[in-house]
Amino acid sequence: MAEKIFRFIKKNKIGRSLKVRLFIIMFLMGMIPSIFMRAGILENYESRAVEVRTSDVQTQLRIIANHLITYNYLQDSSSEVIGAELEQLSNLYNGRVLIINENLKIMKDTYGISEGKTIISEEVIRCMKGTNTVNYDAVNGFIEITLPIIETISAQMATPEMPEGTEIIKGVMLTSVSTDSIVATMEILNRKALIVEIIMVICIFAIALVLAQILIRPFDRISKAISEVKDGYTNDPISVPDYLETEHIVDAFNSLLGRMKTLDDSRQEFVANVSHELKTPITSVKVLADSLRGQTDIPVEIYREFMEDIAEEIEREDKIINDLLALVKMGKSVAQINISMVNINELTEIILKRLRPIARKKNIEVTLISKREIMAEVDEVKMSLILTNLVENAIKYNREQGKVDVTLDADHQFFTVEVADTGIGIPEESLERIYERFYRVDKSHSKEIGGTGLGLAITRNAILLHRGAIKVESIYGEGSMFTVKIPLIRTLI
Ligand code: ADP
Repeated sequence: MAEKIFRFIKKNKIGRSLKVRLFIIMFLMGMIPSIFMRAGILENYESRAVEVRTSDVQTQLRIIANHLITYNYLQDSSSEVIGAELEQLSNLYNGRVLIINENLKIMKDTYGISEGKTIISEEVIRCMKGTNTVNYDAVNGFIEITLPIIETISAQMATPEMPEGTEIIKGVMLTSVSTDSIVATMEILNRKALIVEIIMVICIFAIALVLAQILIRPFDRISKAISEVKDGYTNDPISVPDYLETEHIVDAFNSLLGRMKTLDDSRQEFVANVSHELKTPITSVKVLADSLRGQTDIPVEIYREFMEDIAEEIEREDKIINDLLALVKMGKSVAQINISMVNINELTEIILKRLRPIARKKNIEVTLISKREIMAEVDEVKMSLILTNLVENAIKYNREQGKVDVTLDADHQFFTVEVADTGIGIPEESLERIYERFYRVDKSHSKEIGGTGLGLAITRNAILLHRGAIKVESIYGEGSMFTVKIPLIRTLI
């Protein structure tokens, strides 16, 4: 049953509300003790009242028992004094008194119906042997008490067999007294307790309701604050420091908000950069075209020169677009990666062969140092891109007659590609930023040699797709060394 209720509460929407749960817990915690208290007080009262009644009756009986001996009632039951005493007792407690002699014969019955009869009852026989008995019958509402009638041997009656002070049981008094008055008092008590309990239920209900409302308020405040952020009224971090728990939730939300802001800022910056980068060549083309259009009789050489410049700018635009597409592709899911077993030494050799003519223009010597044969699980196209970009940069940002050393090495887990050059180097403050999109240390110089500022961003993304890492060491004016470290085997995570 309890499990059913619990399941219902869990399933039901209202049951899932913290407010409702708090209310139920507080209400039960207030109610259960009050119910137990009522039951406990009533029970305690009953046993106490029965005890007092029994002890009162026993005292009265003891007095009468003494009188019975004094008046020799067990031999001669005509004493009016005793009769009156018994009558008074039975009237007082609304009960019945039987006086039984040692032969179990009823000498007196205050109801007057069993006199002269013999009684065989366990309690009477036990009492005859000296044990007082008390039985409380709660169902029928009476207490049954037995008390022995004891005669103490006086000095005159003493014999050697029965010395003075010997107690002899001469008979038994069997009394049953009604407990109706106790029951009536209990009923009154119960009724009053019930009224108090109902008042308590109402009070506890109201207190639990108000408390649950107050306790839950900070959570409502969080929802409200989050809604305000969601609806765009504010972008400020929210603050609900009422509880440690609300503070944690709010902190988590604020850091999420911060992350989203950073993402949004970087997205906006990216869009601004892209627009700017794409606009620059177009502006140049427009300026060149306009100046041609504005003049008449221009010599063919000038025309050719301008057209070459225009073609160069278009080429640049094309390169930026291609780089951007490569970057966007790289940013997509890992599923885009095409893994195969590739001989890295051979791949590097091919790439260097392709780049050597460019190097030769500046008399740069490109050397491949293969420390061992490397077979690795990589995406061949992306790996080519990584190698090309790094070696191309090493050539582009080099001096006349400089050197580029490409070193390949591996251990049992990773292979490394080191691209070292004797070029212009990178200033220390720029080392952290060279992987940013469109970041160039020297904008004009980079542009002059055809850089878009996207090469290292693409390279880094491609390396990350291979779960590898890239680092750079550089001394400004002396040269740079890029080190790429990639796992030989592509393990699934
Ligand atoms: P770019 O297309 O301009 O070369 P990259 O993303 O490849 O863009 O490089 C970013 C910047 O890092 C370059 O503009 C350049 O200033 C610097 N850089 C990259 N590689 C080197 C290198 N080997 N030596 C010196 N500077 C370098």
